[in-house]
Amino acid sequence: MHGSISNKKKQDLRAKDLAHKIHREMYDIYRGYKYVPMGEASSLMIPVTVGCDYSRCKFCDLNHDLPFRIVEPDKLEKILSLQSEFYTLRERKPKRAVLLHANPFALSGKRLLEISALVRRYLPFVENFGCFSRVDAVLAKGQDELRQLKAAGFDSLTLGIESGSDKVLSLQDKGVTVAKTRTALEKLRQAGIRYSFYIVLGLGGEDLSAEHQEETAKLINSSQPEEVFFLSLVMFKNAVLVKELRAGNFKRMRPLDCMQEAASIIEKIKIPLIVNGSHKNNIFSFKGRLPEQKELLLEKLYAEIAAYSENEAFKRDVRRWKYWPNE
Ligand code: SF4
Repeated sequence: MHGSISNKKKQDLRAKDLAHKIHREMYDIYRGYKYVPMGEASSLMIPVTVGCDYSRCKFCDLNHDLPFRIVEPDKLEKILSLQSEFYTLRERKPKRAVLLHANPFALSGKRLLEISALVRRYLPFVENFGCFSRVDAVLAKGQDELRQLKAAGFDSLTLGIESGSDKVLSLQDKGVTVAKTRTALEKLRQAGIRYSFYIVLGLGGEDLSAEHQEETAKLINSSQPEEVFFLSLVMFKNAVLVKELRAGNFKRMRPLDCMQEAASIIEKIKIPLIVNGSHKNNIFSFKGRLPEQKELLLEKLYAEIAAYSENEAFKRDVRRWKYWPNE
């Protein structure tokens, strides 16, 4: 009995030590800037790329301090080996893995297949994979390549769609059009790869808000994502958009108006999906399954909007994003 307790203790200490080493290795690569799609929060993180290979969207400075690069194969294997040992000491093992970082799907199909095989060699319990992807990373792959990736476990992607309006995409220099987005989504559908969207509320500013709502709802209705994540626009300190704002070329929407924009898009959605507005960028959280919870969700959303005074919304925004008062 005493022997088994002390073995358990030893195992726990070893697991703690391994978790610490994994954390250190990850920090060495990403410092404080590690992020994954909201829907992949409980997936095992696999470090394959750092930053974004595009890095031109005006509203984004997520990868400001981390220029794009591919994680060195030795480093990747070192972390996989630590993760492998860690999970031999744990009963619960993750079945799903998420590749980091902003656009790992930009890697060639061949490299992604190699990575999935490598992950399975070290972590045979991993069954499938997800990651963020830009639309052009999907377009760059052939239909057969996508089918092979699906067979290798890439069963769903999270796409930073941001808006269904070409005007908004162009304003923000997103580098893709809605037509290209539609083609990419069709390719994914044919390959049997599911997808979810990130949509940024307030991305068109005051001038393009109506267009952003209308066109985004149209895109959602015609493309059937599984889940749509809504995030309010944040003025990141180093984003190009800040300069546009200061020059008077972009009129930022108030936090409450972003919530109003969410409600208006949800009103227009006619297909079954999950609406997820639980991101911390939003001044309040909302989530529900459509169509069953549409009415309830909208009721709650409008009640929250009505209950929030501009002053409260402003204060909360300031607390979260200290940059706001300097605008
Ligand atoms: S929004 Fe996404 S695609 Fe655009 S620069 Fe940022 S990380 Fe890259």
